Amino acid sequence: MKDCKRCGECCKVIPVRLTGMAPETRDWLIAHGAHDDAKREFILIPHTCKNLVETPEEEYPTRCSLHGTSEYPLSCARYHGFGNIYKPPGCGYLGE
Ligand code: SF4
Ligand code: SF4
Repeated sequence: MKDCKRCGECCKVIPVRLTGMAPETRDWLIAHGAHDDAKREFILIPHTCKNLVETPEEEYPTRCSLHGTSEYPLSCARYHGFGNIYKPPGCGYLGE
């Protein structure tokens, strides 16, 4: 079953689809620390959500502190289950 594993990997970058992006914009973002994803579909701007916290778990060293609480953003709950968005390697929605 495809589901969120709460690994937090998607909470460390802001993905922007490369399709339609001017080369100059991509170059500017790269110069400011962004990088392409493995499939070169997105440019990933490093940005870690303030709600991501470290854990003692070896498998998942970071977790969303709001997951499972009433403060968990609906946008986060809905965002990742849909098809045409960035999913990091190991994401539970990839079904690996
Ligand atoms: S990368 Fe996938 S499995 Fe990990 S927190 Fe994000 S949606 Fe969940
Ligand atoms: S609120 Fe939680 S799930 Fe949403 S981006 Fe932040 S750490 Fe990730």
